[in-house]
Amino acid sequence: MGLEKIEKAFSQKKGEFYTRGWIKRKRDMKGKLFFLLRDETGEVQCVADLETLDKKISGECLKATIESSIYLKGELYADERAPGGVELRISSIEIVGLAEDFPIQKDFSTEYLLDVRHLWVRSSKMRDAFKVRATVFDAFREFMKEQDCTEVQGPMFVGGMVEGSMTLFKVPYFDKTVFLTQSSQFYLEVMMYSLGNVYTIAPSFRAEKSKTTRHLTEFWHAEVELPWVGLKEIVDFEEAMVKHIVKTTVEKREKELKALGRNVEELAPTIEKKFQRMRYDEVLEIAKKKFPHLKSGADFGEKEEREITRKMDTPLIVTHYPASIKPFYHRPDPENPAYVLCNDVLAPEGYGEIIGSGERTWKEEELTSRMKEQSLDLKPYKWYIDLRKYGSVPHAGFGLGLDRLTSWIAKTGHIRDVIPFPRTMNRYYP
Ligand code: ATP
Ligand code: MG
Repeated sequence: MGLEKIEKAFSQKKGEFYTRGWIKRKRDMKGKLFFLLRDETGEVQCVADLETLDKKISGECLKATIESSIYLKGELYADERAPGGVELRISSIEIVGLAEDFPIQKDFSTEYLLDVRHLWVRSSKMRDAFKVRATVFDAFREFMKEQDCTEVQGPMFVGGMVEGSMTLFKVPYFDKTVFLTQSSQFYLEVMMYSLGNVYTIAPSFRAEKSKTTRHLTEFWHAEVELPWVGLKEIVDFEEAMVKHIVKTTVEKREKELKALGRNVEELAPTIEKKFQRMRYDEVLEIAKKKFPHLKSGADFGEKEEREITRKMDTPLIVTHYPASIKPFYHRPDPENPAYVLCNDVLAPEGYGEIIGSGERTWKEEELTSRMKEQSLDLKPYKWYIDLRKYGSVPHAGFGLGLDRLTSWIAKTGHIRDVIPFPRTMNRYYP
């Protein structure tokens, strides 16, 4: 029986109680041993009275070390000082796995905790973050189902780039070289002709050399592609989706969010208020106040986005970026082709971009001329160009970084605080 059920059992009847878990803390006080027992649901204080317990049992209690796994039997008592107000008075113990000296006791430096990530994931901070993460994934899927989107999967080994050659990972593939995918978007565009609204949750890989608090080299990408729609519809879809995910996570994970230092009241405006929408040019003017050297046509990086969104309480939707700073697949604005019909969604409180999105170029001529403009070899993209030859339709889609979204919702200082095994330029162990 998990620890969460202890309080319930206690409110129903006193009596003998069995549980199991791991010893998180242990201390010796005036002939009594106090254990803080943990499992996936929480923690409970357990106490062994060494003077009254049978010698064999008290011997086992003394032997049990931090992170040993144990079975316990005892009676439950109310105790205001104990977490949850309940204490288990041990009558018997069985050590299942006796732990060696647990290595995380004194050194809590960031690098050290990353080295022992395989053990640090047991901490309550990590456990809470992973629960929030799982709920974010669930809520995303839930929303997709409501919107009649079908889940599909694209390949991870690919022959071409999506987001620029600078961040491509090359992989030996028999006697050839291929890449790890930067995005599943093009494959979703393919599948849309078969299934209509489609989505995927998959890793994307990018050789990010910059050290920021929001980039991983392997991140979890939720991508969506919808036929027959344009920029306006995709932006509305994203706003409703972000509201749904945030609302669901706040409802289901209030306890964990609080423990992580997120006051859920801060997320209420995102759930209740309409998101602001601005064109790139307007946002540039705002950014220039802080960064006067920003030139027209400059892209916003982490630094700029942090400043732009620092004081906001809802996400900001930025539309119509200059064509020159966006990939070839974005559709030029028919009213002014120097801009594309795209949008980014920036999370408030300084978190910055969580979604990259837009209407896709769906006419062959428009697509190939954008590709030529960017000096791309068309050959590896023959299949992608083919889509524009056989019954092409207007369509739009987006990529949402689930790790980034979780990091904002949970208000963590770094994106790696919400993923069990973060991959960055210098980190691939454990
Ligand atoms: P950035 O400018 O921050 O590098 P991007 O413009 O390269 O982002 P997109 O290519 O639009 O991002 O990818 C879609 C989404 O995927 C982003 O909005 C973000 O949430 C997420 N994302 C992109 N790159 C990373 C990364 N290296 N680590 C984690 N998430 C990422
Ligand atoms: Mg990037």
